[in-house]
Amino acid sequence: MLSGKDSIRIRSALLQWYRKNYRTYPWRNPNATPYLVMVSEIMLQQTQAYRVAKLLPHFINRFPTVQALSDAATAEVIMAWRGLGYNNRAVRLRDAARIIVRDFEGNIPPDEYELRKLPGFGNYTAAAVATFVFGVKTVVIDVNIRRVGTRLLTKDAVERTSGLDGTLAKLLTAFIQDSDPSEWYQAMMDLGSTICKARQAECGICPLQHHCVSAHSITASNTKLREPRRREQTFMGRPNRFWRGALVELLRSNSNGITKNQALRALQLNAADKTTCEWFDGIVAALAKDGMLVSARGRLHFAD
Ligand code: SF4
Repeated sequence: MLSGKDSIRIRSALLQWYRKNYRTYPWRNPNATPYLVMVSEIMLQQTQAYRVAKLLPHFINRFPTVQALSDAATAEVIMAWRGLGYNNRAVRLRDAARIIVRDFEGNIPPDEYELRKLPGFGNYTAAAVATFVFGVKTVVIDVNIRRVGTRLLTKDAVERTSGLDGTLAKLLTAFIQDSDPSEWYQAMMDLGSTICKARQAECGICPLQHHCVSAHSITASNTKLREPRRREQTFMGRPNRFWRGALVELLRSNSNGITKNQALRALQLNAADKTTCEWFDGIVAALAKDGMLVSARGRLHFAD
């Protein structure tokens, strides 16, 4: 574990680098509202930052406040989510806005525990909103922070989705004690996405190279993922998530809804094949379970 002096040196090296090299995003603007930061954190869960930066203004213009989002119909939020993928996040975000209006008078709660109970918020998003919006000094661990922290402390180069959280939490708590937690975490994230990348670490230009136990030892072969990947069901060589997204896109273009046969034809699937039809019913059921669509009078529509 690092000494107090090491922590101070690392923090100062990283912040010096970040203040010269930080990337500008709407959610980092000092005038960004708590609402904008909250929406961006949900979008960033599964969408790359450059894409979120491009599409976020449209969503915020369409729903400028928590109240406006809370009042939105399902079809409206899904329409405004176009281009971001994983559309069920739009519905969960709207549902979260409804809870914020109902239980917190429209004000995003600063309490991480309350945030974690909102639809679509996990441990990371709750901690990130508490920190980036309210400056709460809590532990925020995303994929980039986990990677940089793990390499800094251990010789384990492999990208992981979990583990070491206890050790990392101690490290991060030490780092944020006397500094702005928001700036510190943003710096770790930027370092992880630009220099200490998953399959390639550019240690020669890294501000932490003199403090990092893995410096100059990361190679393409020792970063290979050893963790088992979650298997996703596929159909005709494409993951079900692709087909769910394709069906949502069809509904975006057909405001009066479409029949099952029209959808199958548009997706170039064989409506006469029993296996295809049963699989497609499963796709519809999954979207219905997420509160996104309904099947009524033979047509598929976005839910009300
Ligand atoms: S020195 Fe290399 S491995 Fe260590 S944090 Fe920097 S880029 Fe990552």
